Amino acid sequence: MKLNLDIVPLSSWLATGKEPFVIAGPCSAETEEQLVATAHLLAATGKVSILRAGIWKPRTRPGEFEGIGSIGLEWLKRAKEETGLPTATEVATAKHVEEALAAGVDVLWVGARSTANPFTVQEIADALKGVDVPVFVKNPVNPDLSLWIGALERINRAGIKKLGAIHRGFSSYEKTAFRNEPMWDLAIQLKTVAPELPIINDPSHICGTRELIPYVAQKAVDLDMQGFIIESHIDPSVAWTDAKQQVTPAALTDIINNLSLRKAESNDPVFEDKLAVLRKEIDALDDQIIKKVADRMKIVEKIGEYKRDNKVTILQVSRWEEIIEKRSKFAKALNLEEDFTVKLLELIHGESIRKQNQIMNAKPAMEA
Ligand code: PEP
Ligand code: MN
Repeated sequence: MKLNLDIVPLSSWLATGKEPFVIAGPCSAETEEQLVATAHLLAATGKVSILRAGIWKPRTRPGEFEGIGSIGLEWLKRAKEETGLPTATEVATAKHVEEALAAGVDVLWVGARSTANPFTVQEIADALKGVDVPVFVKNPVNPDLSLWIGALERINRAGIKKLGAIHRGFSSYEKTAFRNEPMWDLAIQLKTVAPELPIINDPSHICGTRELIPYVAQKAVDLDMQGFIIESHIDPSVAWTDAKQQVTPAALTDIINNLSLRKAESNDPVFEDKLAVLRKEIDALDDQIIKKVADRMKIVEKIGEYKRDNKVTILQVSRWEEIIEKRSKFAKALNLEEDFTVKLLELIHGESIRKQNQIMNAKPAMEA
């Protein structure tokens, strides 16, 4: 499936000449001094293309700092006038859209909580009708690709052609080192259905702690994401929101400088030749893997018939345990991660059981 988005290429609206493309700024605009001073330091790094600041903050619990509100738009205006950096903020209602546009905010984004709610997204989309402004759509808080796609479609159908997505990770019940699980495969799936859609990475909200940011940012580069939105504050230790994940402008510079940028394509013919040879090898091996799995399934079917005729249950736990144990050991000796091997075997085993189930529960053919 490919999405039918009517968008213009990123290079036509974000020709910043900087690589990678970076949106940076504080989680929240707190005071005029904090915002303007942070903006000056960010502009001086030479790494930042757009200044971000949350004006209206969607907080999980009431009573927390819910954003400075409309007055902050004036501060964004001043920061832009003094530094020349275009500005970006989150909008969650039609009123936010109107106020942000009236104040000359250059780029808008839809936050993760809003993306999860089609009513909210539609309200924002309706307010954007007839406006030519770049909009980024963050992934929804829950790992649901359709919701993310749906929000992008709603904004696009409102006529927004300068459209991008932000990968900020997903809430998960299981607590891990990340504040929001990256679930990279969802971002890759979005890239697959909408290859022309720019996707930038938000390592700040994925990580939740600044120490992890360099690793996630590198992974995003390796997966060919087009840029970043990173929270940066003049003094993160006293930030009113997301203090643990914000970085100083100097730390932001280090993070960007330490990335190894790799190109999706290369212009070097020798490199391309080598790549082509290696890819042929991969293709051949993939074909062999599929063929072997198909051969394995044929035997599984035979066993299924045998079990049916002898009234034996499909699953024999001891046999399954033996497979897992022996194969994992073998795989480990070949330098494959145990976790990966078990997942692979489980996938194959699940399909084997499904096939045997079909065989054992098939209605007998009508007797002639
Ligand atoms: C933010 O960017 O400050 C923010 C609230 O992010 P998210 O919508 O990803 O939680
Ligand atoms: Mn934040």
